Amino acid sequence: MKLWDELNAEIVSCEKCPRLVAYRQRVAAEKKREFRSWDYWGKPITGFGDRNAKILLVGLAPAAHGGNRTGRIFTGDSSAQTLMRALHAVGLASQPFSLHRDDGLKLSGVYLTAVCRCAPPENKPTPEEIRNCLPYLVRELELLREAKVVVALGQIAFGGTLKALEELARQRGVEWQILKPRPKFAHGAHYQIPDPRGGTLQLLASYHPSRQNTQTGRLTLQMLVDVLSRAKSLADL
Ligand code: SF4
Repeated sequence: MKLWDELNAEIVSCEKCPRLVAYRQRVAAEKKREFRSWDYWGKPITGFGDRNAKILLVGLAPAAHGGNRTGRIFTGDSSAQTLMRALHAVGLASQPFSLHRDDGLKLSGVYLTAVCRCAPPENKPTPEEIRNCLPYLVRELELLREAKVVVALGQIAFGGTLKALEELARQRGVEWQILKPRPKFAHGAHYQIPDPRGGTLQLLASYHPSRQNTQTGRLTLQMLVDVLSRAKSLADL
């Protein structure tokens, strides 16, 4: 509990990326017309969910008017809507929506996080910003000992997850070799890789449930449900 509290306190007060600090604060001050009565969060967001989770879901970053407004990851935007419908469909979320921090949402068996904790302009963090933020994911992996299935939502999250695992192995001083050739992102891809914490880790990939992907039909709800069902079965849930 103490380690979680320390980690989350560090995350919400982080100012390592000047561009993102300026952007998150500007968005919070200017607001979107439809949310003008909101008191925007305007800070980095922590992970959210079951701390004994067997499945870790890794996203990209909070949306300017989603997590950056509501203060909870995957909350209040269209990505959240799609993800929560899918998580609820497979029995990992208590409700098929994620609207605000007090909406009663409970996740069971799954923890949500991201490779970048601040809303980036155009949803595009720079490689340096992702590097700055990666230590938080490494620490979450240390704390989420039960999580042996990781679902990376999108290519950037997939690459960030592999880098976090490499860093975790380096910190633990363990020899760690991922499959050769290096795992590549593709929707529905599944890799069984050595876990630097011991044992084996199941790494699954899905397209990110962004509005762009869902509106173009690149990712349908059923495609996401299929990946999450697979994750659930791999986690013996
Ligand atoms: S993106 Fe991460 S490292 Fe950068 S300021 Fe936000 S919380 Fe800190």
